[in-house]
Amino acid sequence: MDGVTENDISHVIEADKAHVWHHLVQHKPFEAGDPRIIVEGKGMRVWDATGKEYIDAVSGAVWTVNVGYGRTSIADAIRDQIVKLNYFAGAAGTVPGAIFAEKLIAKMPGMSRVYYANSGSEANEKAFKMVRQIAHKRYGGKKHKILYRERDYHGGTIGTMSAGGQTERVMQYGPLAPGFVAVPHAMEYRAQWDLSGEAYGERAAEAIEEVILREGPDTVGALCLEPITAGGGVIVPPVGYWQRVQEICDRYDILLHIDEVVCGMGRTGTWFGYEHYGLRPDFVTLAKGVASGYAAIGVTVTTEKVFDMFKDDATDPLNHFRDISTFGGCTAGPAAAIENMRIIEDEGLLDNTTAMGARMLANLEGLMDKHRVVGDARGKGLFLGLELVADRTTKEPVPEKDIAAVVADCAAQGVIIGASNRSVPGLNNVLMFAPALIATPDDIDQITDSVDRALSKVFG
Ligand code: PMP
Repeated sequence: MDGVTENDISHVIEADKAHVWHHLVQHKPFEAGDPRIIVEGKGMRVWDATGKEYIDAVSGAVWTVNVGYGRTSIADAIRDQIVKLNYFAGAAGTVPGAIFAEKLIAKMPGMSRVYYANSGSEANEKAFKMVRQIAHKRYGGKKHKILYRERDYHGGTIGTMSAGGQTERVMQYGPLAPGFVAVPHAMEYRAQWDLSGEAYGERAAEAIEEVILREGPDTVGALCLEPITAGGGVIVPPVGYWQRVQEICDRYDILLHIDEVVCGMGRTGTWFGYEHYGLRPDFVTLAKGVASGYAAIGVTVTTEKVFDMFKDDATDPLNHFRDISTFGGCTAGPAAAIENMRIIEDEGLLDNTTAMGARMLANLEGLMDKHRVVGDARGKGLFLGLELVADRTTKEPVPEKDIAAVVADCAAQGVIIGASNRSVPGLNNVLMFAPALIATPDDIDQITDSVDRALSKVFG
């Protein structure tokens, strides 16, 4: 790490403390110490303003920097593009916008159109708006409800919070938007039915059907789900779940919206999480890993069938998708995304993710044998969670302060790990891991060894 003098650092810390309102932070206790200022990143590692080196086991805290830090080829692609053309609103085309759309669609059989925005929340909002407009165009406004699942997360805007399955994140922000309806989660570890494996998966999917029948299938327009619930605790639905979900959507003519904001772009060892389950989505939303955090980009991908509905009655000026996202016209996003995709392909990062994910899961399962506090180890590819419980039979979550102590101990050892969302028992007790897809066996072992030591320290 270089380039930041001690004077600079104290000024930066002062400026941060005086003026930055941080995400997800209660500032009262936070102000007692100095904020962690991250100044540099290279590969799997970042350095803070004190010069301390960390291995980043969560790719920028929220599972974003899929190809790792310090990629000069992405920086060059962005620079070359913005020197030529930085921006033009999305009613016109741009070279990187067209080329990235073509490359992305080539990886998504059945899909055909890419709508550009800037973030995961925004990508999801666009899909919700498309569903609502289809309801108006085709069903007199009736088939407008959007189903979401308990524990899933789709964003921080009022619309996406209305589809938010993590109650503590939405409870203080009402009134929320009407027309969003929850379906039960599909987490076998905290089972709602006395079943296991495939039977559990099928039952959890049938619970969705029950909600559809209760609401009236002619009122339900779409079902929005994460392939693997991310911030809600790394929940991988059991075998049998997805096949039944697809059948239910087909049976009741319900559009399937898969939120790949976290799982997309290689995170689980395939380009998209839904590929593991043979789904035929109508909407796929992507953001974080699309440009690995080198530029802001979110996309809503849909089918020609959906797209065609917006070409109906072309003489009616109200009939097209009346939406714009100013910065969806920035060319840096797709330019970075093209190079990001090339890196994933040329460096074989999908295969690496599968191999390193298997190694990491085996290591985490090993921790289960060693530490009674580990109730469950789960995940897919390089997206993994370790659920900590005070008692393996009752599955009583460990106190939040203990989770914080493990995270802090790992940080002291130079390893940044994550934890699931706070404040609701059963949601806040999962350690989370999502290293960059370039991770080596040594990186993986360094991360899990530090968790091993932290668990011994905190729980004995
Ligand atoms: N969907 C999922 C599954 C997410 O995890 C997130 C962000 N954590 C979002 C959507 C929202 O993305 P953004 O923060 O870019 O709006």
